[in-house]
Amino acid sequence: MELYDPSVIRAIRNKYGFQFSRSLGQNFLTDKGVIDGIVDGAEIGPEDLVIEIGPGIGVLTCAAAEKAGRVVAIEIDERLIRILADTLAGYDNIRVINENVVKMDLASLISEEAGVKYKHVKIIGNLPYYITTTILMKLLESHLPVESITVMMQKEVAERIKEPPGSRVYGALSVAVQYYCEVSVVEEVPREVFLPAPKVDSTVLRLDMRPEPPVSLLDEAMFFRCVRAGFGQRRKTLLNSLTGAGFSKDAIRACLEKAGIDPRQRAETLSLQNFAAIANGFVTGEN
Ligand code: SAM
Repeated sequence: MELYDPSVIRAIRNKYGFQFSRSLGQNFLTDKGVIDGIVDGAEIGPEDLVIEIGPGIGVLTCAAAEKAGRVVAIEIDERLIRILADTLAGYDNIRVINENVVKMDLASLISEEAGVKYKHVKIIGNLPYYITTTILMKLLESHLPVESITVMMQKEVAERIKEPPGSRVYGALSVAVQYYCEVSVVEEVPREVFLPAPKVDSTVLRLDMRPEPPVSLLDEAMFFRCVRAGFGQRRKTLLNSLTGAGFSKDAIRACLEKAGIDPRQRAETLSLQNFAAIANGFVTGEN
């Protein structure tokens, strides 16, 4: 039984009376090449503990379990748990958890699961579109002991993540992801390979967690406060937008001058190094 075969998906739907939930972003993969692309892109091996977000009926879960030491799949939809119990019955290295990944304590899950047995922890998934950014930010901000995150997302979100400064779509998400990870494209995926087909194309990105941040910061929270303020009003000059971080215009002028940045610039032109210089300037200016 090939779970990616559309006729198998239809048969499962009929057997369990299952209707796709649009609000949970349920677009199931029907292309073996794309599924293998994610597993190969993540370079999954026997020493890996794989955490999968949103297994659906288990297509990617099975493919990962063939190569990984262990797979833990987190699925929010209770109706799919019963189906997964059947579709994954032949595997003894898969655990399915019925939870909302955004609300889970992933650090505890990983320490409970990884133990001494698995050398690497890798996250994979075909992410639900409605909540991609929230999931990614949660994974990154939790500082999990994870080596890489290889996930499919809407093409436009992937573009925002990987673009450099100066690009139209460069924003707070780009800075945050590029701060925590090195980003590479695994594959581009057309909308036709999903059931049901979404209205957008997708991209699989691999995010390799950096062992050290690419910039040196006196206070990480201040860095993100400046990034949020800068892009919170992205059409405004830095002199105006950074007031959103709670600083006076005089303090902003002084800080930007010290960092060698023109106060008429906009946040979208700033590199990670520029943001770091501004944030560090505010920290030293406050003391
Ligand atoms: N992995 C399957 C595939 O590729 O065919 C399904 C991918 S589908 C795009 C996204 C899956 O994520 C669905 O099964 C959905 O129920 C699940 N999901 C949605 N929101 C979730 C959440 N907050 N936590 C865990 N799973 C979630």
